[in-house]
Amino acid sequence: TIGMLAIDVKGNISGACTTSGMAYKLHGRIGDSPIIGAGLYIDNEIGGATSTGVGEEVVRNVGSFLVVELMRQGYSPEAACKEAVMRIIKKKPETAKNIQVGFLAINKKGEYGAYAIQQGFSYAVCNAEKQDLLINGKSYY
Ligand code: ASP
Repeated sequence: TIGMLAIDVKGNISGACTTSGMAYKLHGRIGDSPIIGAGLYIDNEIGGATSTGVGEEVVRNVGSFLVVELMRQGYSPEAACKEAVMRIIKKKPETAKNIQVGFLAINKKGEYGAYAIQQGFSYAVCNAEKQDLLINGKSYY
């Protein structure tokens, strides 16, 4: 999946999400990416979130909607992504070993963060001050 979140100078948030789906998927399978609330969700009052990984787990937890709702409750983007990941692991502990699910989020202040089940999740940031690559939350520029 490629998920993108953007905020403009007026604080308007937008997002997009695209995928080729999972390898060896059943014909007709629909993952999380085309489902608003699962693979992508934006609430211009609060922020936006997008996901990657095994879409079935994201759909079951309405993942991106959950991340945005957690930010509404005061979670930072990274903490909201982490809480959504923990929700998935709590419901299905074997996911902690077996699969990848990652979330990326941005809030109305332009703060961003991400969290994934497995190590090595990376995302890029581009704004007026910097272009950055973050892996496991660590900046590489
Ligand atoms: N989330 C996608 C799906 O389940 C897979 C991906 O991360 O590309 O269809």
